[in-house]
Amino acid sequence: MTTGTLHASDAFALRAYDYGEAHKIVVLFTRADGLIRAVAHGARSAKNKYGAAFELLSEVTVAYREREGRELAQLTACDVKRARFAIAADPSAMAMLGYWAELVCELFPPRQASDPAYRLLSASCEVVERQVAAGSEEAWRVQSPLTAYVETWLLRLAGFLPSWKRCALCGSVFDPEGAARLAFDGTPSCPDCQPAGRAISPAARRAYAAIQRLAPDDFLSQSPPAPVLDDLAEVNQRLLQAALERPLKSYAVWRRLRAESPQ
Ligand SMILES: [Zn+2]
Repeated sequence: MTTGTLHASDAFALRAYDYGEAHKIVVLFTRADGLIRAVAHGARSAKNKYGAAFELLSEVTVAYREREGRELAQLTACDVKRARFAIAADPSAMAMLGYWAELVCELFPPRQASDPAYRLLSASCEVVERQVAAGSEEAWRVQSPLTAYVETWLLRLAGFLPSWKRCALCGSVFDPEGAARLAFDGTPSCPDCQPAGRAISPAARRAYAAIQRLAPDDFLSQSPPAPVLDDLAEVNQRLLQAALERPLKSYAVWRRLRAESPQ
């Protein structure tokens, strides 16, 4: 009987749910191995050793054991590197983090590491922390551009972001100032090939290019106008729908809480 392989990595806690009387199952996005699901023994007991480790998007250092043929790993250690105490006091910011966590859970296959996705989460959470510390209004204001940034990058890293440079059907390069269209399945095309698709404005395509070129802070400092952000939000939801074939519940929760927040 083998005792399994021991792994160690930094990770983000994405989800945790109860498992039996005393345990929890935690979904982690590890830097070294991507998404894993692990049992945290005793995590529901009064003197559990995990503390805030499984709170949403806490950054942790984990050790876990995997056994061949078992889907669930066994967590052996989990120490908090960075908890999100400040963000926890802001319900709409928390809901936004919940949406990001669900995106990672749904877009990436288990055990596929993505260092760029890990760094994206790290940098984006840092921006939220800073904005929450600066005041609720600032934190509220960056939610839409920052989420457009995170969605776009996660779509790209998971292989679901189309190129906005040329028509996928006839190959012609889009006129930088002209219309482009998006089919229901996420295919970008020129208006000749697809007269009925949703229009993607030149401004939206420029914003997509800026997101892929800039760090999150630099994209935010460009203050993309609300109509462009609405465009990105809608197009990204279409791309996610095409990729996942269902809407994400956490998205609706975030949008509702954001609409109720003081502006
Ligand atoms: Zn075409």
